[in-house]
Amino acid sequence: MSVAVPVPALDVLTYRWPEAAAAPVVGARVDVPLGPRRLTGIVVAADVTPDPAMKLREVLAVRDDTAFVPPALVALATWVADYYIAGPGDVLTSALPPRVLTGDATTFKRRRVARLTALGADVAAQAAVGPACLPPGDDAAPVRLGARQREALTLLAAAPGGLPASVLAERGVSSATLARLVQSGVVAVHHETVHRDPFAAHAPALADTGPPVLTEEQRAALDVLEPLADAAAYRVALLKGVTGSGKTEIYLALAERVRQQGRRALLLVPEIALTPALAGRVRARFGDRVAIQHSGLSDGERHDQWHRVRTGEVDVVVGTRSAVFAPFDSVGLIVVDEEHDTSYKQDEMPRYHGRDVAIVRGRQQGALVVLGSATPSLESFHNAQRGRYTLVSLERRVADRPMADVHVVNMRDEWAAAGADVTLSRFLIDGIEQRLAAGEQALVLLNRRGISSAVLCRQCGNTIECPHCSVSMTVHGTGRRARARCHYCDFAQTVPEACPQCAAPYLEHLGVGTERVEQDLRARFPEARIGRVDRDTVSTRGSLTAILATFGRRELDVLVGTQMIAKGHDFPFVTLVGVVSADVGLGLPDFRAAERTFQLITQVVGRAGRGERRGEACVQTFFPTHYAVRCGCAQDYATFVTQELEFRTALRYPPVTAMINVVVRGTTLEQALDAAGALAREVARGITGRPIVLLGPAPAPLMKLRGEHRAQFFVKGGDRVAMNAAVRGALAAHPALARRTAIDVDPVSML
Ligand code: ADP
Ligand code: ZN
Repeated sequence: MSVAVPVPALDVLTYRWPEAAAAPVVGARVDVPLGPRRLTGIVVAADVTPDPAMKLREVLAVRDDTAFVPPALVALATWVADYYIAGPGDVLTSALPPRVLTGDATTFKRRRVARLTALGADVAAQAAVGPACLPPGDDAAPVRLGARQREALTLLAAAPGGLPASVLAERGVSSATLARLVQSGVVAVHHETVHRDPFAAHAPALADTGPPVLTEEQRAALDVLEPLADAAAYRVALLKGVTGSGKTEIYLALAERVRQQGRRALLLVPEIALTPALAGRVRARFGDRVAIQHSGLSDGERHDQWHRVRTGEVDVVVGTRSAVFAPFDSVGLIVVDEEHDTSYKQDEMPRYHGRDVAIVRGRQQGALVVLGSATPSLESFHNAQRGRYTLVSLERRVADRPMADVHVVNMRDEWAAAGADVTLSRFLIDGIEQRLAAGEQALVLLNRRGISSAVLCRQCGNTIECPHCSVSMTVHGTGRRARARCHYCDFAQTVPEACPQCAAPYLEHLGVGTERVEQDLRARFPEARIGRVDRDTVSTRGSLTAILATFGRRELDVLVGTQMIAKGHDFPFVTLVGVVSADVGLGLPDFRAAERTFQLITQVVGRAGRGERRGEACVQTFFPTHYAVRCGCAQDYATFVTQELEFRTALRYPPVTAMINVVVRGTTLEQALDAAGALAREVARGITGRPIVLLGPAPAPLMKLRGEHRAQFFVKGGDRVAMNAAVRGALAAHPALARRTAIDVDPVSML
């Protein structure tokens, strides 16, 4: 019998089952000893026959006699732990609501309230107006009622569904009065569970107008997808549909179909706050049988939603990455919307990819998996090309709305004409002016925060770096409020007036961010209502939703923001999208830089002209001829993937090869490099004779992070199983180094 416990990076542990207890059940919670500690874990395998020579400790307490975690989920978590070289306890911890395993989850007991109902409306009505005496029941004496009791009964008589005790209390009915009414047998009390309703805060209540008349393309797509859903068997479909082509309607139609067949549906989105319309529409269509799961919920809300799903009160779950672990016993449809989005990859242990786990879940549970995107990841497109996935395309926008006209501005020309400190081109300024005059809206994207992204000394060439991380400091705020801040560890200091290295007073600020763009816009358009969305303005829960809602109500004219504004919103009055610097991401030392840039441009340009009015986009760039910029502006996915796949194939990068990134931390760079070297040699021993290559060790691009030095190496090849085994073997051979090592299987970011 083996158990996963919530201890970082620990493998499953084997215990003896108490003889007095009923047979172990996979998914049950048990208390087990580990060293001097007592821990709560989950049974992951019931039929392990341990070596009789092994002295096993015994399970201390069995908490459940049925599965607390559905066995399907235990199987999924086991796969994740295995594939991503993570501890099964870590995976289960992130798959369950907070503190189920590590603390007192009873704090999150569902709220129960008392509801009171008058027994027989006629009796109550009579009591309210008639004499202060009720007729006796069959064998009881008449009941005498006081004035207070009669008042309470009047209230209850008017509410056939009963009233919660709290409402009665607000109306001045004391609990003593109620107790007497209940005692007299004229009022019944029952306790019910209430769920905190996260939709109220996270999804606007939309009236369901029912499914629209589908476009021809939507109908054709469903003609392919519906039989796959009906088959109740594993299949992956890639739904590649241009922005505004109506993919959501297809998800909803499929979800409704599997629901009618008595199966469940799971809808994954990159970020709920960014797609409130989706959650709202699902709610409108499916009513109460929907649960919402994402990290922005309070702990209590997460518990409520999780239990509702587990106990079968829900048919459809909408959620972010971790909702892929929604505790359904069975599932018929899993949708991954915006499947290319990098937020599906968790950037801490366990480093799983929500989309890939969704696919594995579909395989394990015999479900249709639909991956939707206007700009599919190269991984998914490659799989579709090879016939592993069914490719379904939507080429046109709903109602044949045209794509935005894209105007590319070469910022070199702009600088030559207007000076090297302009952030907004004349074309963009004119465009915004026209929108303001017409009462329309504009989105302005820059995927970088702050006022300036680096401070450089013109005399010695030194840039101001964070003392704890090897990155340049970003300036935020102006005048006396100006601070230089590290975007990795949040260290902040005043912006120096002279170079800390050579003391020269020639410091230059390089690279603009969203804060600077907002300032420039305010200076240029003092009468405009301007908002900004980035991690500095939306740090608190709900503030992102609030700003987006304000913009949606047209109480703002211009919204400046980072990639947050490029995602799924549907703002019908946005007729202009500006991209301040399309190439900020191109210089990053990451083989996915071009793909990211292409996706971002395509997505944000797709935000324009989604209503009746035609849209326009202005893309500012220093590299107008770069294929990522050119194809993004032209919304030309086909040309982009062809070229990008050639590049990936030539250099042996994913998706044509698999990759594992190993990062080792040390107190000095030498120490980190030495440790990485030792691990790499061990990995090499494990892969001899196989077509697998090792790259590195070398200093990581982020050489220093929060005071720790970092070295990394990559394992690249086609044989995932052998690569996984070699890395596991190396970690097992060097347990002390393993504690300083982070493993990233299929990394999406190289930084
Ligand atoms: P996508 O996710 O492909 O970018 P959406 O699903 O958000 O596109 O749809 C774009 C817009 O078109 C939405 O406002 C949606 O309500 C609307 N829409 C979708 N399908 C139809 C249809 N068949 N008829 C009318 N409007 C539709
Ligand atoms: Zn730092």
